[in-house]
Amino acid sequence: HAKSNGGSQYRFYSKELNASIKRMVDMEASLRRALEENEFYVVYQPQTDIASGRTIGAEALVRWNSKAHGRVSPADFIPLAEQSGLILKLGQWVLEEACREAKRWEQAGWTSLKISVNVSAKQFKQPDFADVVKDILKDTGLDPRKLCIEITESVVIDKLMFTLKMLDELVALGVEISIDDFGTGYSSLSLLRQLPISVIKIDQSFIAEMVEVQSVRSVVAAMITMSHHLGKTVVAEGIESEQQMAWLREMGCDNGQGYFIDKPLTAELMRARLKNIS
Ligand code: C2E
Ligand code: MG
Ligand code: MG
Ligand code: MG
Repeated sequence: HAKSNGGSQYRFYSKELNASIKRMVDMEASLRRALEENEFYVVYQPQTDIASGRTIGAEALVRWNSKAHGRVSPADFIPLAEQSGLILKLGQWVLEEACREAKRWEQAGWTSLKISVNVSAKQFKQPDFADVVKDILKDTGLDPRKLCIEITESVVIDKLMFTLKMLDELVALGVEISIDDFGTGYSSLSLLRQLPISVIKIDQSFIAEMVEVQSVRSVVAAMITMSHHLGKTVVAEGIESEQQMAWLREMGCDNGQGYFIDKPLTAELMRARLKNIS
């Protein structure tokens, strides 16, 4: 009996597992077709100068509206795209799309706006990544100084010599580099000091916890002060309230983004917003 029970339990477990594996495999197959099927689009979350309230640019964020799976969050499909290697094509498409849109802003007379684009570990680790960026800048005609590439701390720490060389190549093109989700990984400001990184983005978990926890507010203030001593610009992400905005302003945080300022907007809504403020 024990054996047959174990057996059925195994079958049950295996059924659940199969269902979840099947969903992943299905999703990966859909993901593989999604570019050709035009299921991806890019949204733009405005970034503002906290002291003046001026819009200084936006972060490009990819969206997937799948015929088979509906709206899938990037938190779910980016890791899948990364595992399967599809991130290379997808990431290149996002970069191109975002640069093309930023060029439109420039042509419409919003000449100081920057575009920030997330780049995944696998993308950044392609030996020819700087050439990919260079070609996209050339094809879209975007001023390299208008592009900021966001990488995460884990990308920086892993293969430090390669990272240094790649960062130098990117900086030589004229693009800016920012560290996304700062504070969640294992890099230190002293390591970042030695790298040609100009922007530190404080992870949204710190901004969220600032509200309740006084010690987190102190940590945020310290991160801002230290970043400034190292000559870096600081961006706070995930600002959801007036109170957070007021604290960050008082702490001298340079730039911010979050639902309190704006949600990520479609390209059309972003342009409409730019028209309204200028
Ligand atoms: P991230 O780069 O740290 O982007 C910030 C995330 O916070 C975005 O989620 C954004 O929609 C969300 N957010 C913005 N303001 C607020 C706020 O006030 N409160 C809260 N709770 N959240 C806010 P999203 O768009 O779901 O993207 C999640 C992550 O997926 C991104 O984190 C980024 O790591 C990745 N991702 C998104 N687009 C791309 C892409 O084109 N390429 C790559 N490689 N990764 C991407
Ligand atoms: Mg980001
Ligand atoms: Mg982030
Ligand atoms: Mg994040």
